[in-house]
Amino acid sequence: MSSFDLTNNSDDRSSASLDVLRQFTRRREMRPPVEQCELCSSEIAADHRHLLELARRTLICVCIPCSILFGDPGAGQGKYRLVPSRFLKLLDFQMTDEQWDDLMIPVNMVYIFHNTAAQRVMAFYPSPAGAMESTLTLEGWDALVSANPILNNLEPDVEALLINRVKNRGGEQYREHYIAPIDVCYELVGLIRLKWKGLSGGEEVWKAIEEFFERLRARAITVEDSSANTWPTNNPPAWRRG
Ligand SMILES: [Zn+2]
Ligand SMILES: [Zn+2]
Repeated sequence: MSSFDLTNNSDDRSSASLDVLRQFTRRREMRPPVEQCELCSSEIAADHRHLLELARRTLICVCIPCSILFGDPGAGQGKYRLVPSRFLKLLDFQMTDEQWDDLMIPVNMVYIFHNTAAQRVMAFYPSPAGAMESTLTLEGWDALVSANPILNNLEPDVEALLINRVKNRGGEQYREHYIAPIDVCYELVGLIRLKWKGLSGGEEVWKAIEEFFERLRARAITVEDSSANTWPTNNPPAWRRG
């Protein structure tokens, strides 16, 4: 029986239900799985902005109009904050090996941000079990900030200092320092949790980590001088990123 015959079925009820079924299957065939804005349910691209729900520190996926609404400081009524889209690569970041060792990070990656709910600066590293908090003293953070005044400009809760010392590019001395949106740090945690295998992680996870930092590098604005008192502040709109 052809589809023409089916749509011209004299039985109204069965043709109606077939139509519904056909629409449903057509929709499923034609549309790739899409993500939705969690506020207004409109479709969003894979690369989209997030709000941070401050109490639970969870991310909410949002469309461009909703992100613009929440871009206004105070719009989230202290509950939600728009995660910025700023990526800065800090070229001359000052941090001694001693300062690094004090953090006791087992994986050569860490992100550090000011948590206003906890009223302190916190350092986390990605692990197969998710984000793990590492030791960071207030003195340790203050020393980093005084050596790198650009850190005064970190937006609390939603931006982090992200440090990469994974020796996959430049050997032992390889290190990169970024100011990055917190959602990107969560992405790094997620990919390690998802892809880590066995004791050493396995080839797949290390390749994914390398690709993650390649994307970051490509997107970041380079800041030559971390002691500068001026810094790029204007976030390009999400649809012009990349
Ligand atoms: Zn929306
Ligand atoms: Zn999302």
